[in-house]
Amino acid sequence: MIPYGKQHITEEDIIAVTEALKGEYLTQGPTILEFEKKFAAYIGSKYAVAISNGTAALHLCALALDVKEGTKVITTPITFAASANCVRYCGGEVVFADIDSETYLIDIEKVKELLESQPKGTFSGIIPVDFAGRAVNLEAFKKLADEYNLWIIEDACHAPGGYFVDSKGTQQNCGNGNFADLSIFSFHPVKHIATGEGGMITTNNEELYKKLLMLRTHGITRDENVFENSLEFANGTENHNGEYPKWYMEMQNLGFNYRFTDFQAALGISQLKKANDGILRRRQIAAKYYEAFKNLPFIKGQSSVIEGHAYHLYIIEVDRRLDLYNHLREQNIFAQIHYIPCHLMPYYRELGWKENDMPKAENYYKNCISLPMYPTLTDEEQNIVINTILKFYN
Ligand SMILES: *Cc1c(COP(=O)(O)O)cnc(C)c1O
Repeated sequence: MIPYGKQHITEEDIIAVTEALKGEYLTQGPTILEFEKKFAAYIGSKYAVAISNGTAALHLCALALDVKEGTKVITTPITFAASANCVRYCGGEVVFADIDSETYLIDIEKVKELLESQPKGTFSGIIPVDFAGRAVNLEAFKKLADEYNLWIIEDACHAPGGYFVDSKGTQQNCGNGNFADLSIFSFHPVKHIATGEGGMITTNNEELYKKLLMLRTHGITRDENVFENSLEFANGTENHNGEYPKWYMEMQNLGFNYRFTDFQAALGISQLKKANDGILRRRQIAAKYYEAFKNLPFIKGQSSVIEGHAYHLYIIEVDRRLDLYNHLREQNIFAQIHYIPCHLMPYYRELGWKENDMPKAENYYKNCISLPMYPTLTDEEQNIVINTILKFYN
């Protein structure tokens, strides 16, 4: 069986997890901070906060940026539903903007049109998605966001190790915090770095970083510099030595338990060591698909290997997509479709979205198919995939 994506777990990973299990902490131990620091160094951000999964990470980002009833946030319809749902968790309103048919990313021109169509202050933020591993040009989005006083949450789940090149020619890694207020990643097994479940938020903003640490653990703080209740109350007596007692902590916000565990962090640290090799292999696979299918009239949407693309997915647009998908399945090749446009999910239709609202996204959905793409896909397996597709069309 050849799936569209899968994790790569090595002996080294297994040893790392086993060692962590023998340690003192299963959760809330020092391995989590170690993973956060190493992940931040890999991405190039100041701070990183490990979270129980990518969806919870998005939820905390929306909370930290004060999304609430009436808050309007713009995102793309071609993404995993969580990119939009995080706004709804906080009672905010999701406003979709159509994609660019070439890049499949949210179209900045559509976002501009939206912003210009309403009085300033209507929208609060944008959630661009580095879809399939292709980096959004966040420099351009940041400029727009500043003009309209918007925050940016970058959904970089598909793109750890991806980057775009800014107007000065500098490589800007996805999630490095230079343009977005907050960026999020997922460590679900189909993503680049696997820890079972897991997620990460990266940022360069210290205030947001501190807020996220609290929200991750019930909104509780143990930092006596920010305690709000009196010493008398905390000690339970007026007879105290002027310090908060050692047991004392405060719940200051309505947070959650969205913590990560130490054995997952150990796996994450081990996985991180292979991350660069994984990206290189993914780019090789992409180059080979490109060579195999270029100039074939029934396959669209192909471009040669794109600089900075992290290739979480390799997507082509094809004629007779349904037949191809079923044919591949019969040969035990499990291609996948990314994504069914989010605005046409029954939940979002219920909120008023309808067909033809996002014509480019809806058109894209009719023909797109994601081919097997993961570092351990062998040349032999990729040949089988390619030949099966070529035979199907001939
Ligand atoms: C995987 C994914 C998420 C959610 O991550 P989980 O860890 O599965 O909760 C969010 N956004 C995108 C684009 C994703 O691909």
